[in-house]
Amino acid sequence: MKLLIANGHLIDPNENQNSGKNLLIEDGKVIAWLGQSESAPEDAEVFDATGLVVAPGFIDLHVHLREPGQEHKETIASGCAAAVAGGFTSVCPMPNTQPINDNAAITRYMIEQAERAGLANVFPVGAITKSSDGAELAEMGEMKAAGAVAVSDDGRPVPTAGIMRRAMEYAKDFDLPVIDHCEDKSLSAGGVMHEGKLSLLLGLKGMPALAEDLDAMRDIILAKETGCAIHIAHISTSGAIEIVRRAKNEGINVTCEVTPHHFTLTDAAVEGYDTNTKMSPPLRSQEHLEAILEAIKDGTIDAIATDHAPHHADEKALEYDRAPFGITGLETAVGLAFNELVHKGVIDLVRFVQLCSTNPAKIFNLKNRGTLRVGAIADVTILDPDFNWTYKVAESKSKSKNSPFDNWNFTGAAVATIVGGKIVYRR
Ligand SMILES: [Zn+2]
Repeated sequence: MKLLIANGHLIDPNENQNSGKNLLIEDGKVIAWLGQSESAPEDAEVFDATGLVVAPGFIDLHVHLREPGQEHKETIASGCAAAVAGGFTSVCPMPNTQPINDNAAITRYMIEQAERAGLANVFPVGAITKSSDGAELAEMGEMKAAGAVAVSDDGRPVPTAGIMRRAMEYAKDFDLPVIDHCEDKSLSAGGVMHEGKLSLLLGLKGMPALAEDLDAMRDIILAKETGCAIHIAHISTSGAIEIVRRAKNEGINVTCEVTPHHFTLTDAAVEGYDTNTKMSPPLRSQEHLEAILEAIKDGTIDAIATDHAPHHADEKALEYDRAPFGITGLETAVGLAFNELVHKGVIDLVRFVQLCSTNPAKIFNLKNRGTLRVGAIADVTILDPDFNWTYKVAESKSKSKNSPFDNWNFTGAAVATIVGGKIVYRR
């Protein structure tokens, strides 16, 4: 019943903790922090974390688990297996299942499937509008009662300011943040990559940065007006980042997340027409990537989220124009963050834990998570910053293999994942 994580370096930004400490867990909760020479109960199972970083469990605010409806791409069980293998103890699936998660029955079903799998926690995101068709508001109160932690129409962003305003007023009443995929489809429709020099050269229709900037501007103004908490999903443009930065300075209740692919790759990756470089928002140009790194550094960006979007190999095998948007991401996120952010000196380990755990828990109001203080739920991610490994997509726990990072080498990994006091993954 007792688990002692011994000899590790404990990082908990919430508690200003960044030094060696032993962590004692019992019945799924943290019950004590012990000095490393202090004696521990003899009946505790010991996990030796010598040379490792012990952090509150990583929380991915943005995944697509495809169940119900598209189980050939992913199931909640396979998605949760990929999550814990990537170091995530909790994932928040978007509502674009089939049918759409716009009601309490589907929200409840998703949570039950996760409980059956017994791996990661699943906190569903409910739809803003019924069937995410942008017309009639979904029953947010009922979804929240069933366990939904936020609302979003994600890839089918609410088309009009009128509906979005009512949605924000309604969501605020239930204390649910609105997750906003910012894309003005009147500007981006038909586009398959970032609009710029390269899209012209490659002969592919572009999605302008402007489509993201304008929608972010509209919804942040609406958030100011309504007082609703708004969280910008997968931010990817320098313009949207600047808009968020100013809104935060003004005291507007806005947060944002970035994906590992957007802080790693640029539209140059599209040159070989590999459909595993096609996602929405698209990979942007170098100047946008630099703005993203700056915003990760200065705190404008609050969280790292994967936008894990599994697709079957047959669908991704189409021409670039016709292939679906999205890549898998749960098993490469930590490696990419170590390679591109930690080891390049963009951020330190404390900020890394903030981006992957502390802040995500706060943004979605996940009580007793995102921290390892005494009494908190014992969700723990154990990291080895020096672990060298190669990602082999064929060995992925996800049912889908659509990753542009096959055969990439990484230094740094999650080497163990503990959910509710139980070790559910060891590398
Ligand atoms: Zn999206």
